[in-house]
Amino acid sequence: KANRAFHPENSIIRVGESSIGGDEFAIIAGPCSVESEDQITEIAKSVQSVGATFLRGGAYKPRTSPYAFQGLEEDGLELLKKARAVTGLPIVTEIMYPETIEKFVKDVDVIQVGARNMQNFALLKELGKTDKPILLKRGLSATIEEWLMAAEYIMAGGNENVILCERGIRTFETYTRNTLDLSAVQAVKKMSHLPVIVDPSHATGLNYMIEPMCMAAIAAGADGVIIEVHNNPAKALCDGPQSITPDRFAKAVDKMRKYVEIE
Ligand code: PEP
Ligand code: MN
Repeated sequence: KANRAFHPENSIIRVGESSIGGDEFAIIAGPCSVESEDQITEIAKSVQSVGATFLRGGAYKPRTSPYAFQGLEEDGLELLKKARAVTGLPIVTEIMYPETIEKFVKDVDVIQVGARNMQNFALLKELGKTDKPILLKRGLSATIEEWLMAAEYIMAGGNENVILCERGIRTFETYTRNTLDLSAVQAVKKMSHLPVIVDPSHATGLNYMIEPMCMAAIAAGADGVIIEVHNNPAKALCDGPQSITPDRFAKAVDKMRKYVEIE
């Protein structure tokens, strides 16, 4: 179902009045994690005012260490809903447990499947039974084919609203957090009709690389970017070093606007 051979035209995934794929370039922005009502609404307002088209924010966090901040969970979802009510931005947030699907379907606009769950087939099958847009991140060590097959798991169940996200892969290089595989954008576009976005934040782990890698994503033909923005990166509970401030985000969006149409 993800194969372009049986579906030659590009898919456009509709999310309320917004969309991903097609002529407009999607800009998803927000903190790695929802930390408090002030934090998420302040960031939401600032990214919205300069051109973000979606708000991101993790409520359930898949942290490497079990002792690290695990997210505000259900309370985080409530705070995202408040930020959506204030700004009108649709919300994108990561799901970790099949038991929470019903809640996510009701409360969230785009359900993110994180890199660590890309091959959680039980989760993918359940998401395939919903009609929610799913943002499917590429696994840390997944080949492009494995990634497309993960999309196929969701689509096989009847949910064809899948957006792919290249977020860097593991290589021998450790200078950047991961290695951004930009050629994957064109590979996916050749094989599939699904929209593909790029996450320069998790791909590089380094705030000074976000803007240039956004520009590179545009050149590579991506349908959008997902960027971590924090109003106080030094104090962020998760992924501070790769987070940019709202000011820096505004500058990056201005630059992108010269090359792509942003809602
Ligand atoms: C995230 O988006 O905050 C995240 C955990 O991303 P990934 O699954 O790509 O590591
Ligand atoms: Mn993160």
